[in-house]
Amino acid sequence: MREEIMQGIKTLLSLSSTLQDIPPRELLVGILYLSAEQRKTLRDAPDGFRRVAVETGRPVSQHLLDALMGMALIGTYAPYHETAFEVQRFALQQNWRLVTERLGDSRKHRPAWALFLKDGTAAVSIRGTDVEQSRGGDLFTDFDANAGGLPTCATGAAAHRGVLSAAQVLERELRPTLKVLAQAGYRIVLTGHSLGGAVAAVLLWLLRFGTDGERLDAPVTGIGYAVPSVVDLRTSEALRPYFTSLVNSMDAVPRLSPSALGRLARELRSCAAQSGADLDEDLNHYVERLSSVWAPRVRDGTPAPELPTVKTPTPHAADEEPHIWASHEEDEVDLYIPGNVVWLHRARGHLEAALVPCTAAPLRRLLLDKRMFEDHSARAIHQALRAVQARRDATVELPPWQKFSDAGEKCPCCGSRYEWMNTARSGKMRCHAMTNCRLCGLVVCVGCASSRRSIPEQGLDTGRVCDRCAWRGPPLPELGPLFGALAEANSDS
Ligand SMILES: [Zn+2]
Ligand SMILES: [Zn+2]
Repeated sequence: MREEIMQGIKTLLSLSSTLQDIPPRELLVGILYLSAEQRKTLRDAPDGFRRVAVETGRPVSQHLLDALMGMALIGTYAPYHETAFEVQRFALQQNWRLVTERLGDSRKHRPAWALFLKDGTAAVSIRGTDVEQSRGGDLFTDFDANAGGLPTCATGAAAHRGVLSAAQVLERELRPTLKVLAQAGYRIVLTGHSLGGAVAAVLLWLLRFGTDGERLDAPVTGIGYAVPSVVDLRTSEALRPYFTSLVNSMDAVPRLSPSALGRLARELRSCAAQSGADLDEDLNHYVERLSSVWAPRVRDGTPAPELPTVKTPTPHAADEEPHIWASHEEDEVDLYIPGNVVWLHRARGHLEAALVPCTAAPLRRLLLDKRMFEDHSARAIHQALRAVQARRDATVELPPWQKFSDAGEKCPCCGSRYEWMNTARSGKMRCHAMTNCRLCGLVVCVGCASSRRSIPEQGLDTGRVCDRCAWRGPPLPELGPLFGALAEANSDS
């Protein structure tokens, strides 16, 4: 079982009483087999996310991508620095100037922030919760408390209770400064990472629509990175002309809505109930393995002489839609990602960007993926944006990807069963031992795809490649010319 997935589940458990209610045995079995099932579903539809993005959304313009990249460092890294001096040094490297900050005074419902200026733009960056460090963080502790009903402002917006009170505090603090900046002709951008981005969205709403009588008469817009679902659908839609939320691929935090957590709990329970036979098979093999624990794991196969060719995957017919792509019934009181959503999604191992509605099915479902919290970090977001740009600049089409379900039982590289190095042997768990080569698209065992290399023509900084592709040389000449060349080399020396 992948360490990262277990770590991810631990974080989810700390956030959700819905998951805490599942008995431990059921939870563990559910996690083991649901993560395998989901991996298979995703790898059987290598263009599935792209298809959803095309069907429900539209492409991201270069202009918008530039804006997201341009604000990323100020919006994600900057407010996490400890001292004003460090923030200033960091900001100056990006040609921003720190004007004022409240970084040393962060407490519950009062996040730290910093104000930067650059070329007629004033950016307020709000610090979020470092989910990596705090395993959930303070504002998330009352996440479930909101499921029973959302607080509503006088003008009808409904938002996560903690985020709304944080935004109200910042509105009182920042309004006078923003007014002065607006009068001086500055464009104002509110930004932040994670909960900081959520506070930025609700603060923007308060400045635009919130307070009767005194609305900030200024061009205020916002960009949030890895923003959680914190507003109701109506508020999210009202924010669309002004606020853009970026979701990085599998990041679980933006997907932590009450209905997504409920859905995950139901799926874990039903998967646990259906996986009895697989569990028996895996446990039997585990016991066998224990009796020979010092024996090395060896590949036992012979390489298959004929290598399979990869068919271009056909999209799923609508009637056999696997549940990952299908849209769902939502809970009556539910929370959504605020504003426009730019979703960086994977297509055949590469990142692409699309502008999708906050109701898009893949944003409403928690997937048990090793990247579920990795993708949330500021560093991962910055790298992902660069990868999207690199893919746009790429010169070649992506190779077709073999589906996991077309891969048979043996790895085409080493001829062994895919799961030769696994302790579990059930067909379901096999998916954790399989991966696709980024160069030829074939499914190989993870042992045969330990090499990573840069594939600049595809726009990949670093991608897994199979041993055949990693060690492939130029075509071998006929033996006659080869000996001729050797003789020539010898006569030269
Ligand atoms: Zn292999
Ligand atoms: Zn390959």
